Amino acid sequence: MSATVVEGVGLNTGSPARVWLHRAEGPMRFRTGGCELIARPEAVVATRRCTVLGGPGTELAMVEHLLAALRVAGFWSGVVVEVEGPELPVLDGSAGPWREPVAALGAPPEAPAPLTFAAPADFSHGETRFQLTPGAESLGVEVDYPHPAIGRQSWRGGPESFDALLDARTFATLEEYRALRAAGGLRGAEEGRGIVFGDEGPSAPLRWPDEPARHKALDAIGDLALLGRPLLGSLTIERGSHAAHVAFMLQLLAHHTPPNSGPSS
Ligand SMILES: [Zn+2]
Repeated sequence: MSATVVEGVGLNTGSPARVWLHRAEGPMRFRTGGCELIARPEAVVATRRCTVLGGPGTELAMVEHLLAALRVAGFWSGVVVEVEGPELPVLDGSAGPWREPVAALGAPPEAPAPLTFAAPADFSHGETRFQLTPGAESLGVEVDYPHPAIGRQSWRGGPESFDALLDARTFATLEEYRALRAAGGLRGAEEGRGIVFGDEGPSAPLRWPDEPARHKALDAIGDLALLGRPLLGSLTIERGSHAAHVAFMLQLLAHHTPPNSGPSS
């Protein structure tokens, strides 16, 4: 079966990347280098400024933006993402360009039952703090960057406002950018592939004044999609990171008892 190909360049390696999306029964998964990687928290092998899935002899970086676009379109399963290249293409630094190829997949399978919790939960990982309160699904993020054009920002919204987040672009401060380049990374960083905040402000006009907070929310939505189902509750993440998102999900799964597996009352 033919599918639209999405071509681009990986942000960190600068390697060319080609991606095809296919419908297929079963869990959300990536196919690369002859290996199949199931999209789940346990498959995350690294979090170097993006989320990296891995298996025997294979790694695939920056899966989170596409996962966010799939999740926003209602896909929690039923898709195989075939990838040529070590990381997904950065495109314009946002998940917006994934909308069209995801829409071409058609209607998503029936939504899975959400993960539910009876009591509020608090979890910390490094400098990141998570607060989860039972109730309707919503996400709040709070960021604090030592750059005058970013500073403290927050964003909060429910699933109905997640789609707009897809257009928020990835960003770095000029200091981070220089350090990462000096370390051999960001080989694919060019104008039009995200934002660099320098002394004169952002390298491109912002789409929203709080675009950094929105991008952090997008990253969280993409990472949390690895749960394979929505998280029913109000979640607040302060100073989030990919590593913290993964630690949080593993913690959730370790402590969550499916509603039908306990002793019947
Ligand atoms: Zn991102």
